Order: sequence, then C-alpha cells, then structure tokens
Amino acid sequence: MLRENNHEHNVSQTRREGRIGLIANKYLKRIRAAPGKKIRLGDFPTDWAQERDLKDAEKEAFKEKALKILDENRAALASAQELLWASNVYSILIILQGMDTAGKDGTIKHVLSGVNPQGCKVHSFKVPTEEELDHTFLWRFWRALPNRGEIGIFNRSYYEDVLVVKVHPERLRNLPPGKLGKKFWNARYEDINTFEQHLARNGTIILKFFLHISREVQKKRLLDRLNDDDKYWKFSLTDIAERQFWNDYQAVYEDAINATSTDIAPWYVIPADHKWVARTLIADIITTKIRSLDLQYPQVTDEILAKYREAGRQMEED
Ligand code: AMP
Ligand code: MG
Repeated sequence: MLRENNHEHNVSQTRREGRIGLIANKYLKRIRAAPGKKIRLGDFPTDWAQERDLKDAEKEAFKEKALKILDENRAALASAQELLWASNVYSILIILQGMDTAGKDGTIKHVLSGVNPQGCKVHSFKVPTEEELDHTFLWRFWRALPNRGEIGIFNRSYYEDVLVVKVHPERLRNLPPGKLGKKFWNARYEDINTFEQHLARNGTIILKFFLHISREVQKKRLLDRLNDDDKYWKFSLTDIAERQFWNDYQAVYEDAINATSTDIAPWYVIPADHKWVARTLIADIITTKIRSLDLQYPQVTDEILAKYREAGRQMEED
C-alpha cells in the first residue's frame, strides 16, 4: 500500500502515474467508485487486512509507516493550501459521509490540523431547520460553499437528502404532490450531479469520501461511548435507533454512490474500521489532488517589482 520513502524514486514514479501522493495508485484505484460502473458496497473493504497482499504486513510496523505518511501529508497539505489561497482560482470541497461513529469528526481534526484556519471552513449539517425546509434541499449548502482559495469541508452534506431522507421519507415536508418512487430519487441524484457540474466548471474541486465501517465496529464504538464517561457527550440514542436501519442505509449509500460518482466528483469508499487507515488515505488523496493542479504563486511583473522597490526606498528615508 505504501510507497518506499525515497523521494527521488517517488517523484519519477508518481509523475509517471500522474500523481504525487505517497500511497500506491493501485490501492487508490481499488477504493475509487469508478464512474459509470455499478459498484457493490460489499465488495469494498472496511479493513485493509482483508487485502490479500497486505496479510503479511506486520501490523505495528505498517501502522508506524502509515502514520509517518499522514504526518508528511499533513505538512504537505498545509503548504498546498497556502498555494491554493495565494493563486485564488480554485476552491476545494471535501464531502464526508458515513454511518454514525464512522469517524468523520476525527478525520477533520487529524487531517486538517496543520492547515491555516483562515483558509479552511468546516460545516456540520444537522437535521434541517424550519427555515431550511422552506427552501430547496440544496439551499443551505449553497450558502456554505468555500470561497476561491479555500478548502471547505462538509461534515454530512446534501447527500443526507438522498440517504437519511430516503430511509425515512416521512421527513420530507411541504413538497408538491407526487409519488416518492424511483423517479423522485433519480431526480434528486440528477439535481446533485448538475449542481456539482456547475461548481466544477467554475473552479471547485470536489472530493467525496464515504467512511466505510463494518456493523461490528459500529457496535464496538457505540458501546465505547456508553461505557466511557468521557465519551458520553458523543452518545446519542438516535444512533442506536438508526442502527436498526443498517441494511437500508447500506442500500441507499450504494444507490447514491452509483448515481453520483462522476469524473469531476468521484466517490472514494474509504476503509474506516481503523481510523489511522482512513485518515492516511484521505490526507493523501486531498494533498495529491491539490498538488496536481500545479498551482503557482502569483507572478510579479518587473514593472510592479520596480514600484515595490521604490516604495521600500521611500519608507527607509522617512
Ligand atoms: P451528527 O452528525 O451526529 O451531529 O448528527 C446529525 C444528524 O442530522 C444525523 O442524524 C443526520 O442524519 C441528520 N441530518 C442531516 N441532514 C439531514 C437531512 N437533510 N434531513 C434529515 N436529517 C438530517
Ligand atoms: Mg452523531
């Protein structure tokens, strides 16, 4: 999974592969939901250990290496973000989805810890308010999009409107009459694809991550929250209620990923049973993407440089 930590080797190899990341391309391909192909969630690992060629990897040594890569990527992300900001052309929209306890909050905290908070906005989307319900389902997201030069993170997103809402259609309110069948949901996927196309055409880079955990790991994490008084605050009875709908959720995630993984906004199905695996992969994918934009710091013309120098001279004299 991991590349040798030899930078010269990395540069030539990654140029050839068209990416600059530290994680081998074949593993990234494995977790990318190929646009236009039907995927089955069950075919995607929640745990890397299921990978045949990783079985022999010594767990601790492997983890240590992965954490080192996460560290390197964190630093790389911080400088990539500065360049994104300085060049002021693109924005990055990162969408994080996943079942309760999948690790969305922790990913944000760990992956973005080195990034300048001024250039980064996180929005967590909850049950819509009355005001939000009085608008189209995309309205509240429009207002939260990152500005040019910024990284925006959506902790849950408009995908909830084809996920939790598809599992519980009774939550839909005040819509024009009509059946809530296939046609209705297909229209929502279409709205989402069109919305993302529009954003992409105008300079938004979209990366979508589904943090894929197993049912057993969710059980363990929910019980941990119940048994540790430092974690009570994370516990919610709704999480247990929603767990009853596990299979329905897997099905609607699968539908949504199949309908909306596109070249301009692909889905990555991230194995998230181990938090360090998920974080390492996500940091690598984001960093690689920003670097592939080949951004430059704005160039200063000779004329402007002469003016700056003159201003500097005047300041020294005052
Ligand atoms: P959390 O992320 O744990 O703070 O929980 C946020 C809750 O808001 C989750 O239970 C989501 O399912 C719910 N939620 C987010 N968006 C929507 C939506 N559009 N409609 C209904 N519930 C939503
Ligand atoms: Mg929660």
